[in-house]
Amino acid sequence: MFNLFVYLSNNMKKKIIIIGSGFSSLSSSCYLAKAGYDVTILEKNSSVGGRARLLTKDGFKFDIGPTWYWMPDVFEKFFTDFDKKPSDFYGLEKLAPAYQVYFDRLDSLLISDKIEEIYQVFENEEKGSSVYLKKFLKAAKFNYEVAVNNLVYKPGNSITELVTFDTIANVNQFFKSISTEVRRHIKSEKLIQILEFPVIFLGAKPSNTPSFYSFMNYADFGLGTWHPKGGMYEVVKGFVTLAEELGVKIKTNQNVEKIVVENGIVKGVQVNQQFMEADFVVSGADYHHSETLLEEKYRMYSAKYWNKRTFAPSALLFYVGFSKKLKNVSHHTLFFDSNFDTHAVDIYDTPQWPKDPLFYGSFPSITDDSFAPNGYEAATFLIPIAPGISDTTEIRESYFLKIMERLEKLTDQNIKDFIIFKESYCVNDFVKDYNSFKGNAYGLANTLMQTAFLRPKIQSKKVKNLFFTGQLTVPGPGVPPAIISGKIVSELLMKNSL
Ligand SMILES: Cc1cc2nc3c(=O)[nH]c(=O)nc-3n(C[C@H](O)[C@H](O)[C@H](O)COP(=O)(O)OP(=O)(O)OC[C@H]3O[C@@H](n4cnc5c(N)ncnc54)[C@H](O)[C@@H]3O)c2cc1C
Repeated sequence: MFNLFVYLSNNMKKKIIIIGSGFSSLSSSCYLAKAGYDVTILEKNSSVGGRARLLTKDGFKFDIGPTWYWMPDVFEKFFTDFDKKPSDFYGLEKLAPAYQVYFDRLDSLLISDKIEEIYQVFENEEKGSSVYLKKFLKAAKFNYEVAVNNLVYKPGNSITELVTFDTIANVNQFFKSISTEVRRHIKSEKLIQILEFPVIFLGAKPSNTPSFYSFMNYADFGLGTWHPKGGMYEVVKGFVTLAEELGVKIKTNQNVEKIVVENGIVKGVQVNQQFMEADFVVSGADYHHSETLLEEKYRMYSAKYWNKRTFAPSALLFYVGFSKKLKNVSHHTLFFDSNFDTHAVDIYDTPQWPKDPLFYGSFPSITDDSFAPNGYEAATFLIPIAPGISDTTEIRESYFLKIMERLEKLTDQNIKDFIIFKESYCVNDFVKDYNSFKGNAYGLANTLMQTAFLRPKIQSKKVKNLFFTGQLTVPGPGVPPAIISGKIVSELLMKNSL
């Protein structure tokens, strides 16, 4: 009798199909399964995690996408919603130094994990700058609290979501760029670059990002840079474990070909040429691609709309195994020895391959032995580039040589002779692996005109029971926003399911 009851109640559960297994999909699956829905994740690739998958080769491993674990409070909040903590799934270490920034040969600044030491670095570089930094960070902390407590968990349905006492009192911060704000008070180009760097995570150039987003500077200096032991993929694994504990079914190699709609109501999806029924569909695949799975009359945004958006950059990435330990680099190392304004023009204004790009190097085996065999170094290099530009083997190769030469010069060591292997990843791979629009790496930039209620909507206005989540909708690009997006979409879906 009891079994019959369980059987019936299970079969009466509303069925939800979630397309994709990135952080936003995994996050929403947990909330929806906890609320009692029958949740299935369909992922086209053979492994889960979306942009945050793992590459392993010859005893080395590499996080394919995200490497910076910022805003630890967002991860904590997520797990608390399930009466868990991050430490139930993975260990965390605060990186010290948080990161290193190169400006010239053997000329770099270390960003400490301690704020007093950061003030000292600023003061040594420019007298009086620490006084400004203290004021700037006080405002940044305030903005962070306003953003996290009042804004980013909102569904982006209306401008009124942005209207709070605090935002009205600080409305000027939405109409002044972070670049203008910083440059008004700081003269040192090095310090300017350090203060402008965090908003790059939002996908837009600092001169186009409202100064309200200085909350990213608080995330940087105030909350610190953390490393999940074993890498970001351990976080993915944590999300998967939790989802499966809650009853989510996760299926890989499931390419969704169509979202099936009848009379404006979603009926299910066509996956690997089979129909799969659902009461709701949530797509965590890139928004633009998700809409191409619909008949044209059910799409909310035209090709023209997408072409006019400012996308976050794409990236040329290299995953490299070295047969020695490298010197003069830190776990996270930024190579800012060229002009970012010129590079930014090549990304956002006249899309083309940059002449002298800035680049980023991640050397996780410096702090985490699990990334490389003993005595060896695992490194990921990332050059931000314009989405949609031509991607050929020759171009990739020429940039690899370019940055290896710069790396040798800047860090004063022989590097090229110690390369065991390299794998590359670029525009064409983003398109092939993730159905990414123009091969963007991390979604739609968070500019003033693409923020909150101005982003693509989380709920379809044309198809009942169809929802979107992830880095192209609210709140924006990055792992913490993807996690938040999963929560927002679930709450909206539950309201609609009553
Ligand atoms: C190189 C790189 C570096 C980054 N660095 C950082 C960082 O250091 N810190 C940080 O916080 N963020 C970083 N980000 C951003 C962060 O990784 C993303 O914002 C976040 O992971 C996006 O999650 P998502 O769920 O929105 O989308 P995704 O992770 O892209 O997930 C979408 C999923 O949908 C699947 N899919 C697509 N089409 C279909 C289909 N038709 N059928 C079935 N499945 C489909 C895809 O395969 C994919 O698994 C980085 C991103 C990249 C690419």
